[in-house]
Amino acid sequence: MGAPTVVYAARRIHTMDPARPVASHVAVREGRILAVGTLDEVRRWGPHDLDERYADDVLLPGFVEGHSHVGEGVYWRYVYCGRFDRTDPDGRTWPGLTSIEAVVARLREAHAALADPSQPLFGWGLDPLHFGSTRRMTRHDLDAVSTLRPIGIIHASGHITNANSAALAAAGYLRTDHDHPGIPLDAGRLPSGELRGPDAMAPVLLKLGIDRAATAGDAAGTRAFARLAVRSGTTTATDLATPIPDAAVDELLRITAESDFPLRIVPALHVRGQTIEHTIERALAMRERATDRLRLGRVKAHADGSIQGFTARLRWPGYHDGSPQGLWYVEPEALARLYREALRHGVQVHTHTNGDAAIDLAIDCAHDALRAHPSPDHRFTLQHCQLADRAQLRRMRALGLCANFFANHHFFWGDAHYATTLGPDRAERMNPCRAAQEIGVAYTIHSDAPVTPLGQLHVAWCAVNRRTASGRVLGERERIGVADALRAVTLGAAYTLHLDHEIGSIETGKRADFAVLRDDPFECAPERLKDVRVRGTVQGGRSFEADSA
Ligand SMILES: [Zn+2]
Repeated sequence: MGAPTVVYAARRIHTMDPARPVASHVAVREGRILAVGTLDEVRRWGPHDLDERYADDVLLPGFVEGHSHVGEGVYWRYVYCGRFDRTDPDGRTWPGLTSIEAVVARLREAHAALADPSQPLFGWGLDPLHFGSTRRMTRHDLDAVSTLRPIGIIHASGHITNANSAALAAAGYLRTDHDHPGIPLDAGRLPSGELRGPDAMAPVLLKLGIDRAATAGDAAGTRAFARLAVRSGTTTATDLATPIPDAAVDELLRITAESDFPLRIVPALHVRGQTIEHTIERALAMRERATDRLRLGRVKAHADGSIQGFTARLRWPGYHDGSPQGLWYVEPEALARLYREALRHGVQVHTHTNGDAAIDLAIDCAHDALRAHPSPDHRFTLQHCQLADRAQLRRMRALGLCANFFANHHFFWGDAHYATTLGPDRAERMNPCRAAQEIGVAYTIHSDAPVTPLGQLHVAWCAVNRRTASGRVLGERERIGVADALRAVTLGAAYTLHLDHEIGSIETGKRADFAVLRDDPFECAPERLKDVRVRGTVQGGRSFEADSA
């Protein structure tokens, strides 16, 4: 007798395998797919248990999120202050907040619930662009909650933080001699309370108890993130830019090996703060320790900032409202050297590029590095890649670069891109899934959770409909079909991670990773794709229910 075989019956199975797109049964053995087809076909493999728990459900390959941050699980310990309703890992939905006053009111409630008067209070998800006025939050807004307790709030983009006077004072910031572009001043030459960019934010975040290196292997946070994954049908998710110190590697290996841990995590080591040589060395050493559920060995670099924060690096003519052309987050020569070293050692690099100038830089660096170290099938991926035009996509295809588009931007910031940051033409062109498909660039689409909520059905809905929060269709010509969008969030993402031979479709030999859906996304109206109900997941042959996640 070999290992036991379980045959799952389903209302329908969409395999994403063009050779056999639809089936009714899938046989699973040792966490892998043994066979897929009809009951008569799969039972030829011999004795099995027939499991009918999904008889009324629809199975898809487990969703693969190619750009997320496991830190969202840690964020939920703090106060959600975003503009849109959002569901936490335990299934509670927090209403979105539509004004600075509402944000202050929610923080005041959290403040009243904290017994220890010196414990910092931290909120996340703020985006004043949504509040329909140009007023920015200041330290006085947060002082209205408390002048004694350090209070801070990080913006949805992760690129800006607001602090109250107590938090600024704790970090030694409450003085009049600042001369830093990331520390805007008020009329009295004191910091206004808004801190822009990682350098300006870091000292205050530390005083607020926010330390990404310390929480890189946080057990409760990692498990909370995994619950969000089960709720959204996700079976593989990246942690795209983590400092992941050695102690965190040990901890993550332990957590992900737990028999009921439901997620495969693909971390990418952050280049920031260490030399390129050391980064590559660490990535290679970590790759040796990789397991099925912790895929170590990739690297992440940042070329620029965010479009909605006006820090993405744009080509001429720059921002539509006349803002400066953005920031470089990396020295151009450093990126070129990273690519050369990474290609030389066979380490894959993911590069954050929002603006078209940042995309140009990454393409140029890849072009030169590939001449120095020709590397078939490197699959270097431009992350976000929001403003790529067709000429850039043609170069990307020629060089074998993949794209991971930030499709959720259409809904969450599309109106602001149209009116303020980019203007109509570039806003309608952004995240060009259709163009990538036509030109032949391998692509996927993502949420960048916690920037927007983890959930590939919502991301796919955005790529299919391109609707903004106000209801505008932003770039009708760049819309893709439901089948293409679902392929992008399964096989498409798996390809950008060099995992498409293992996950991303339901076919013999691959991991038994399924998204278990109550509704059939191929049958519902495309406008309803985001409303398809998720029952849970099967990950490596193990069943997980969203309700009990
Ligand atoms: Zn990100």
